[in-house]
Amino acid sequence: MKRIVLKLSGEALLGKERSGIDLESLFRIAREIKKAKKPSTQLGIVVGGGNIWRGARDQGLGLERVISDNMGMLATLINALALQNALEQVGVSTRVMSAIAASNVSEPYIRRRAIRHMEKGRIVVFAAGTGNPFFSTDTAAALRASEIGASILLKATNVDGVYSGDPRRDKKAKLFRHIALSDAIARRLGVMDATALALCRENNMTIRVFNLHKTGNIVRAIAGQDIGTMVTP
Ligand code: UDP
Repeated sequence: MKRIVLKLSGEALLGKERSGIDLESLFRIAREIKKAKKPSTQLGIVVGGGNIWRGARDQGLGLERVISDNMGMLATLINALALQNALEQVGVSTRVMSAIAASNVSEPYIRRRAIRHMEKGRIVVFAAGTGNPFFSTDTAAALRASEIGASILLKATNVDGVYSGDPRRDKKAKLFRHIALSDAIARRLGVMDATALALCRENNMTIRVFNLHKTGNIVRAIAGQDIGTMVTP
């Protein structure tokens, strides 16, 4: 039995839209997840909120950071509810567990209950990040993966994996197929933010970074195929 945490950024749901949720992208992802979800795989998904609101980026000069971060966490809840409904419409039983009290629309995050849901074959969508301001959903993914004893954290991104530089700006940036977590931290490679990486390092968590926009990659990543970059502790 494999237990896996998949991190989907809010951008994954953007599709052609400038902000919000592109339903075509949402349902494409839901169908891929359905295809990937085998009875022998327990799956938790941490969803971001950057397609709607990102605390540090969108606070501008007018909002307090803590409030802006709270808004970002609520944005992840919007995405989580959308993802749950899309997954259930394609026939995958799903529960949303929120780190912020939102009991009319989701369950509270309770570790043992999350594990129980996964054991019963349900996908758990972890919403509201860590429930605290100043963190990211990447950190939430590292935290949930560590807490529930996942064997790997799959991080879906916009590029093929971890590069030596920014591949969108630097044509010479090299794609790593494999890199040690300590190297990624020391070289400040854009895998995830430093807090998330530190948590993975402390908890011996392996990360696979892969391109979300290539059809079939979610299925490949969940099946354990060697795509993108493997980041090992
Ligand atoms: N956020 C937070 N605490 C958390 C996770 C997220 O305050 O534990 C807020 C933060 O403002 C963040 C926003 O929620 O910018 C959306 O999350 P994130 O930027 O990680 O989403 P993604 O980039 O994955 O779409």
